[in-house]
Amino acid sequence: MQPISKLLSVSDHSRDSVSMTYVYPVISRRASGVSIGINLNPNNACNWRCVYCQVPDLKRGSAPTIDLVKLEQELRTFLHELLYGRFMLDKVPQQARRINDIALSGNGEPTSAKEFEQVISLIGRVKHDFPLPEALKLVLITNGSLIDRVSVQRGLSHMAKLNGEIWFKLDSVTQEGRIRINNTRMSLKKMHANLKLAASLCPTWLQTCVFEIDGKPPAEKEISAYLEFLYKIQQEGISLQGILLYGLARPSLQPEAPRLSKVSAAWIESFAVRIKKLGFAVKVHP
Ligand code: SF4
Repeated sequence: MQPISKLLSVSDHSRDSVSMTYVYPVISRRASGVSIGINLNPNNACNWRCVYCQVPDLKRGSAPTIDLVKLEQELRTFLHELLYGRFMLDKVPQQARRINDIALSGNGEPTSAKEFEQVISLIGRVKHDFPLPEALKLVLITNGSLIDRVSVQRGLSHMAKLNGEIWFKLDSVTQEGRIRINNTRMSLKKMHANLKLAASLCPTWLQTCVFEIDGKPPAEKEISAYLEFLYKIQQEGISLQGILLYGLARPSLQPEAPRLSKVSAAWIESFAVRIKKLGFAVKVHP
């Protein structure tokens, strides 16, 4: 591992700050601490193209073949450095010197890796070999579109035994909204089925990004459809941990970037209140 030259900050999510292919450190704004990021998409390929995506040179596609031996070496090397080396002291601000979680969150959709299931087993093996906090979470940040794959489902079941959590992306429940925001034609029926599967296999949060397009926040029609969907899944007994509501934290790297801006703090809060009224826990990251 090559040294990085400065303290990491909450805005530093550079995937190559430790010069590894798959493993990178992030100081998470979601929780003060170091998140050990695992990027299964070093090719910057995703099956979606969200207008707010922060992946540089994003292209359509899947994760490449994962070199599992290299991934394991990198994870072991980085954990060793975090626990016994000088990384925390030299690179992490004092208030964030704790390991927060291991997060499968990269430059594309992690579950598009054919080796996804083996990756979860690998993480389990490595975790077991280090004196890590009991509560250390394994988080999967996913657009949820490939959860109908049986091998992904096996990986999710295994994640549940590793203190896992799924953060399932849901920005819009209308076909028009998903085309406009995520550039995907995935149907609501499939998204609903995949969400049901996810929640049945491993604790699941919905993650929803809200922002203005051309100076306008999401329309009331979108918001009501979203709230109706939440009500419906609740009635069906689909159990969610809650909703993670995000504003735009960092600039989009997509061509639509100049058209996007943050919603006001008041707007996001009032949306959160409407979700909470349905009985869901909500965490807001404006
Ligand atoms: S799903 Fe994630 S990685 Fe893929 S385009 Fe959307 S924000 Fe980017």
